[in-house]
Formats: sequence, C-alpha cells, structure tokens
Amino acid sequence: MLKKALQYYLAFAKKVNYFFWSDKAMLKRTWYIRYGFGIILLVVATAVKLYHYNTIGFQTPFLLYFGIVILATGFGGIGPGIFTTIISALISDYYFLYPYHSFYLNRDQSIQVILFVIECLLLISLSGAVTRASRNFRRRGERFRAMLENGNDAIIVANEKGEILYASPATERVIGYAAGEFKKMNARDNTHQDEKEMLEEMYASLLKSPGQSNTIVHRYLHKDQSWAWIESTITNLMDHPGINGMISNSRNITEKVLLERQKDDFVSVATHELKTPVTSIKAYAQILLKRFRKEGNEESAIMVEKMDQQLNKLVGLIGDMLDVTKIEGGKLQFQESFYEFNELVIEVVEELQRTTIDHKIELKLDESEKVFGDRERIGQVLTNLITNAIKYSPASRKINIFTSLEKNGITLCVEDHGVGISKENQDKIFERFYRVSGPEYQTFPGIGLGLYISHEIIKKQGGRIWVQSEKDKGSTFCFELPYNYKFNKKVENTETKNTDIT
Ligand code: ADP
Repeated sequence: MLKKALQYYLAFAKKVNYFFWSDKAMLKRTWYIRYGFGIILLVVATAVKLYHYNTIGFQTPFLLYFGIVILATGFGGIGPGIFTTIISALISDYYFLYPYHSFYLNRDQSIQVILFVIECLLLISLSGAVTRASRNFRRRGERFRAMLENGNDAIIVANEKGEILYASPATERVIGYAAGEFKKMNARDNTHQDEKEMLEEMYASLLKSPGQSNTIVHRYLHKDQSWAWIESTITNLMDHPGINGMISNSRNITEKVLLERQKDDFVSVATHELKTPVTSIKAYAQILLKRFRKEGNEESAIMVEKMDQQLNKLVGLIGDMLDVTKIEGGKLQFQESFYEFNELVIEVVEELQRTTIDHKIELKLDESEKVFGDRERIGQVLTNLITNAIKYSPASRKINIFTSLEKNGITLCVEDHGVGISKENQDKIFERFYRVSGPEYQTFPGIGLGLYISHEIIKKQGGRIWVQSEKDKGSTFCFELPYNYKFNKKVENTETKNTDIT
C-alpha cells in the first residue's frame, strides 16, 4: 500500500517536474501563456492573502510570492520570472505594507522590498542554472541513448552468471532476437560448441581483472537457426557503479567471414593449380641443366640455372600461400617423430650457406638433444629465419646461430647485423602479410608470410617465437621448443617414448 502510494507520488512528481522544469515543454509555450501563467498565480496568491489578511496578508507581506517567482521562472523562463518579481513587489507594497492601498515606502520597507527583489533575482538565476544543467544532462542522455539504440553494434550488459541486465535494440539486427526476448535468455547459451570453452576461459580471466577487455570472434545460433559469426569486445565493468556487469559490443561479421572463406578457398584452389605446372617446369629445367652441362654448353646451362633459382622462389611462394590457407582452415598438418635437433640445424645451415657467398653463417651449438615434433616444419622455420637474416643484412657478413638447452626445451636464435626493426613494428611482423614499410625496405622482395607461418608452426608445436632488434643495428630472432610438447618433459629414453606416442 505504502509502496503503491510512493509510486504514485513519484509518477506525479515526475509530471510536475516535467511541467515546470522541462525546457522542452517551455519552448512549446507561446509568450502570453508563459507570462499569463505567472499572472494567474499572482492573482490567486493575492486573493488568498487578501482573504486571510490578518494571518498571512499583513503579517508576511512577501509570503507566497517567492514560490510564484520560482514557478513562473520554471514554467516561462527568465522573462516571466523577472516580470512576476516586479509585480509581486508592487502588490506586496500596495496591499500588504503600511500605508495600505498606496505605493509609499518608508526606509525599512524600501530595504525589505529591495531584499525581496534581490532574493528573487538570485532564485531566478539559480533556477536558470538548474534548467541548463538538467538540459545538458538530458541531451547527453539522449545522445547516449541514440548512439546505443541506432548503432549497428548490439550492446549487452550481463552479470557474472551470464544473465542479461540490458540489451540494446540492435541485438535484433545482430542475432535476430528482439532486446526484450533476448533478456529472458542467458548470454552464454547458444554459443557454438567449438568456441564455448574458449569463451568460458575468456570470461573467467576477465572476471579476475576489472576494467580489462578482450575481443573474440565466435559463432552464435541466430534466431533463424543459422550460425552467425559474431565479433564481441567484452569489458569487465563489474566495479562500475552505473553498470555492474560485463558489457559487450557485438557485431555480426558473418558476411565478412564467408567472403574471407571464399577468398581463402580461391587462393587455395589457385595455388594448388599453380603447384603442378611449376613442379613439372622445374623438373624439365633440371633435366635441361644436366643436358647442357653434358654437352658443355655452359652459357645455356647458366641461363637454365638462373631459371631454376627463380622457380625455387616461385615454389617457395606457392608453398607459403598453401600453408597460409591451411592455417586459416585449421588444416596445417604435422608429421611428428623424434629427431636430433642439432642435426637438423646443421643440415639447414649447410644448404643455405650454399646459396650465399656474401654471408658467413656461424654456428654455436649447445649439446644435441632429441626433440619430438615435425622435423620438416621446424626446418622450414629455421630456413625462414636464416633467409630473412641474409635478406635483411645486405651490408653485413656475419650471421650467428646459437642454441641453448634449458630445463624445458631448446632455444635457438638467429642473429644478424642488418637493417633491424623498430620497436613499434616488432609485434606486428608476426601478423599475416605484415611487412615493415619505408624506403629502405622497398628493395627487399617478399610478401610478409614467412614469419606468420613460422609463428603458427612454433605455436602449434608448443613453443614460442620472439625478436629482439634495434633499428639499423640488427635483429635476433629466437624460438623456444619444448623437448616433447605432448608430454612437456625432457626425453630420457627416446625409443620407449617414441613407441608410447605413436
Ligand atoms: P617477408 O620477408 O616476405 O616480407 P616475413 O614474414 O618473413 O615476410 O617478414 C615480415 C617482415 O619482418 C619483413 O617484411 C621485414 O620487414 C621484417 N623482418 C623479418 N626478418 C627481419 C630481419 N632479420 N631483419 C629485419 N627485418 C626483418
């Protein structure tokens, strides 16, 4: 009962507040309504005071007029406020200050009237400040609401259990459910099985760090029962008094993902188609080379050799493109076994040393150790790091390779003294297609895939890869590989472990 009464009172107060203090309502009123309202109040108040002249009229000449000035200002603005102030002062003087029915004022009465006018003017400016503040507040609120409601991103606030506290209207555009409908669901239901664990892990880690945010791409079951690809940036605002939840900005990127897929499929098919003719051209080039050498036709042999070198580059490029499409499709495969790490390093270095006369690759290897993983793929990473070291250090001769055996794995580093990489580029070079730009880099050929592929291979083999570099001083690329990433411990007896795994 009391609650209901309170609710009615609050609703009434809201209406009164809107009636008197809303500048939106005020702007709709014509000047005579704004001034007329003040006049009506003055007439009513004066009539009441004249009726009770002994109790309130003569006793308190200015009583009620303060209130009228405030209401008239709220209702009509500053003009009607000043107008009612002046009329109130005149009425008080004429009717309620001795001598009655005259505008005569003695010294004390003049002071009283002046104080009344000053107080009224202060009230008017206070009322103006309140109106301005409420207008700004309302505008900001409206702008914020318009942004929330008209944006393309669904803004969703959920508590730690995933119960939805707020969902913006754009939710319908993103996942098909109207905001009201979605509020009855749990934010974490309907996520694709494959990404559920990843999402749960992300929520758990976010919950531990207030203020932190994370972006994730995942599938969500759309109302039309299709899987939509959603990109969500989730921020932990549990500690924020106005939010008290996890806020997520989510957009539907299904079309973009499908287009990306089509593009990847095209690249995959095109590179596959390219691979076969290039491989047979290479085979013919090698036959020709042998033939010319046999015939003693050195000039033609040199030309075919150059052709073969260019074909090697083409084969490398095709290989990289194929690897990238495999990575994107989660289909990069690994042929795993135990292999002697130093043996692989020496093999790769000998092969690459043959390709350059300007550089000297120096090895400083720790004891050899057996490693479990894909020998060929790790060789590919090493080849990429060394060819980069050669490519990006045209003016320096020495390239150092060193390894060290640690408790949990082997670390290998490739050090060059070439062009180096600035700090801001060091994180980005492992991204797909990223190449450092600038005039000094334009002469180096490449497409920015080698380090991306290397990073993916090392990651999949349970290791990590990083770079230390200073611009114009050189770079040191290192990777660390566990001895046996499947069991994550050093291998003591290769034979038994090998059979255990395979
Ligand atoms: P690519 O060499 O084909 O451009 P990568 O993925 O191998 O592609 O390398 C990405 C970028 O990282 C290169 O474009 C280059 O700017 C930079 N980079 C890689 N290795 C080195 C290095 N040893 N020294 C300086 N810059 C390097």
